[in-house]
Amino acid sequence: MSSRSEDLFARACELIPGGVNSPVRACHNVHCHPAFIARGKGSHLFDVDGKEYVDFVLSWGPMILGHAKEEVTRAVAEAAGRGTSYGAPCEDEVTLAAMVTEALPSVEMVRMVNSGTEATMSALRLARGYTGRNKLVKFIGCYHGHADPFLAAAGSGVATFSIPGTPGVPESVVADTLLAPYNDLEAVRSIFEQQGSEIAAVIVEPVAANMGLVEPAEGFLQGLRELTAKHGALLIFDEVITGFRLSYGGAQARYGITPDLTTFGKIIGGGLPVGAFGGKAEIMNHIAPRGEVYQAGTLSGNPLAMAAGLATLRLLKSCDYAALEKRTAAFAHELEAVLLQKGVPVQVHTIASMFTPYFCDTPVTCFADVKKCDTGLFETFYKQMREQGIFLAPSAFETGMVSFAHTDDDFNKALEAAKKVAF
Ligand SMILES: *Cc1c(COP(=O)(O)O)cnc(C)c1O
Repeated sequence: MSSRSEDLFARACELIPGGVNSPVRACHNVHCHPAFIARGKGSHLFDVDGKEYVDFVLSWGPMILGHAKEEVTRAVAEAAGRGTSYGAPCEDEVTLAAMVTEALPSVEMVRMVNSGTEATMSALRLARGYTGRNKLVKFIGCYHGHADPFLAAAGSGVATFSIPGTPGVPESVVADTLLAPYNDLEAVRSIFEQQGSEIAAVIVEPVAANMGLVEPAEGFLQGLRELTAKHGALLIFDEVITGFRLSYGGAQARYGITPDLTTFGKIIGGGLPVGAFGGKAEIMNHIAPRGEVYQAGTLSGNPLAMAAGLATLRLLKSCDYAALEKRTAAFAHELEAVLLQKGVPVQVHTIASMFTPYFCDTPVTCFADVKKCDTGLFETFYKQMREQGIFLAPSAFETGMVSFAHTDDDFNKALEAAKKVAF
């Protein structure tokens, strides 16, 4: 007998391409159907068949406080009672902007949008408009949303499906996208030596979290800061994942680097569709209507989304990030030990409240290293963990997420499940 998830997925596949509204959810790569979720509470998800999971996906990052956090849902419900969209400014937009600029000193002004994709797309347009240059440097395996110029050698879903870029993106659009391997400062230096005067910006995930989890090498981010400054290009930190996760001040606080522009998404919307980009006032003032670089949105700064973001940041401000990092690291190390005992090649990367098991024993510092991982071993691991109620991202190229709602019992359940996996 088929499950309700399987039935829903079959119906969904007739109505929605691939049965999902974002490819990474499809479980295509691990050869099974996705679980359809009925509800979430704290660190747990419940599917339509009544199965309960410990959730290490957290909507791919946003739910750092756990699902249905009371203060957040109450703020959203109250906002909804006052109307769901005005097409005119509201006070929460100003309050949230103030909280973001206070949390990240490099961000003097911020503009709200509706997704991370919109944030990076708009930041790139601004960088191009501001510098009067067209070229962009991005890193292989870094994902910056699905706008055309970033879909060259993007990680995550694109990597999972081995689409070389993607059909539908004209070569002319990505012709200005210059690629370098992550952590390879020499490659970036040589690009700048040849084309420095044409480069508008370098965009980087300060911690790469869309090819599994790859930390920046010592001096890498600092090197990017120096190179961009020297050549008059902007440095864009894509903190859509790392913002309010790596620390309250994001990756830039942790590494002590001041980018020119920063993009946000995920956590900043507290689980509602929000993105944002911000940076130096001198640059941000080039955005319309103050400046000439056009950018707009009917639902941007939406009152529900602002309420969710505000409630989330207010709680996060007093959360103990260091303690969560310690617990995540202990879990990741234990997980690695459990899997190593089974004789499989594995290394579990971890930083802050994120972790990725890579099924390989050679060092992983860039996308070429990531690709050496054994995806068959990952599939076995994924399926048996899911069967035992542990919800992981269905791809070997993703990052596990931990929330402030995860308990020691959740970690222990995951470790006990890992002990039972038969490779
Ligand atoms: C998720 C993500 C994006 C895109 O955000 P969406 O809200 O999915 O459009 C951009 N950059 C990074 C680093 C991301 O992880």
